[in-house]
Amino acid sequence: MCYLCDKKLSLHKDVYMYGGDQGFCSIKCRNRQIVLEEMRELETSTKNMVASYRHCYNSDRRETQILLEEIHQRHKPRPIRYQINWAIVS
Ligand SMILES: [Zn+2]
Repeated sequence: MCYLCDKKLSLHKDVYMYGGDQGFCSIKCRNRQIVLEEMRELETSTKNMVASYRHCYNSDRRETQILLEEIHQRHKPRPIRYQINWAIVS
């Protein structure tokens, strides 16, 4: 049986093999299967790329937020009273 179109493979004709266990009735069917698998691979790699891109984007945003908070705190004037109290306690 052809892997793609399920046509019966003739024993008298050449069988086009692909991937060791996939037989095809014609070179057309085999090429179509190769293209299909390449497209599937491309789709998975694209999905992985998008996923990793999203991950980077999220962590970048979080880092920016932390950085902004740090800058905010650095610019906030420290309460002097608190510093005096702390000195007395210690
Ligand atoms: Zn076929």
